[in-house]
Amino acid sequence: MAFHVMLIPTLGCPSNCNYCWSSEENSPIMDIKIIEEVVEWLKNFRDEPVTFTFHGGEPLLAGYEFFREALTLLTEGLKNLKPALAIQTNLWNLTPELAQLLKEYDIPIGSSLDGPLKLNDLQRGEGYYEKTMHGYEIAKAYNLKISFICTFTSYSVNFKEEIFNFFLENKLNLKLHPALPSIRDENPMKWTLTPEDYGELLIYLLDKYLENIDKIELKNIDHLCKCVFTRRGTVCTFVDCMGDTFAVGPDGSIYPCYRFVGMPEWVMGNVIEHPSMDDLSKSAPWKLLQEYKEYVDSECKKCTYIKFCRGGCPYNALTITEGEVNSVDPHCTAYKTIFKEITKRATKEMLSGNLGMSNPDLKKKTTPGIMELMIKPS
Ligand code: SF4
Ligand code: SF4
Repeated sequence: MAFHVMLIPTLGCPSNCNYCWSSEENSPIMDIKIIEEVVEWLKNFRDEPVTFTFHGGEPLLAGYEFFREALTLLTEGLKNLKPALAIQTNLWNLTPELAQLLKEYDIPIGSSLDGPLKLNDLQRGEGYYEKTMHGYEIAKAYNLKISFICTFTSYSVNFKEEIFNFFLENKLNLKLHPALPSIRDENPMKWTLTPEDYGELLIYLLDKYLENIDKIELKNIDHLCKCVFTRRGTVCTFVDCMGDTFAVGPDGSIYPCYRFVGMPEWVMGNVIEHPSMDDLSKSAPWKLLQEYKEYVDSECKKCTYIKFCRGGCPYNALTITEGEVNSVDPHCTAYKTIFKEITKRATKEMLSGNLGMSNPDLKKKTTPGIMELMIKPS
């Protein structure tokens, strides 16, 4: 089983998105020694393949030299773990030199954009769109693979058609993200998308995706269809993520996931100590997430979707309860809505013989169907 280590070179970020919950002003930048320790830590940690994702804050603030050294250390020092690499960045600090480096290591980029200029800048701050698009042009010039996360808020969901068309017309691949309560806003729920609205949005986007299946990629919908088809989670939200995902903060602290970075109560150890899986499993955060898993086993046991939902994201669940294990992911209603819809459509397609596949022999095919998404290669 592969595992995932998110590297957070800093929690600092030059943008100031209204609903952001993960950046800190004046956050230090990770010293390259921490990456050296990551390599030493992982040499004897697990034998499975590893994926490293640079995340933040804004990881590119660490600069070219940091990345040049870090990439050499990780890929040469951990060759036996066949490291795969990825980065999540707003692209503002992408230079041709950095783009060339990311190309050399074939690193896919995830970035963030909430739609057309006016809408995006209303949510993410004035000037964001232009700076991200500037970086995007550099990334394109180096032929880098890029997909965008679009955060839908209680405001922007009213412009869902405009947003979808923006991504379609600009040939940008899209992954949607529902706004979470912000810890930085006096009114933390102001931008939050309700589970009902999120569920409706997923169905709307499923229809738009099927209409435009050859023109755009909508990763969440692909994942949701695959979950239903394979009966198991295909992204962290829908598996027991504890134990297969870790995040390393700027000072080497190890957390269960990037979302917890910067919260001292979620530190499980430090890369400098080279902890084993057994050491980490004795930490308080591990035990709490184990408790969450048991809670899901009992709370969701009657749910048809438990095998491929697993109670959703524990971070989402634990933030609304301030760390108490007494609720599943608040997006539960949205997950049920979309899983039900996908199951219903797949069953209908199978019964009608419209399997939605591009096989000319299947004469009954009328429109692209859900099965097409279910069997789509990842
Ligand atoms: S806490 Fe949530 S975001 Fe983090 S790895 Fe688990 S499911 Fe994914
Ligand atoms: S859909 Fe809701 S009830 Fe079902 S497994 Fe997911 S969180 Fe639990």
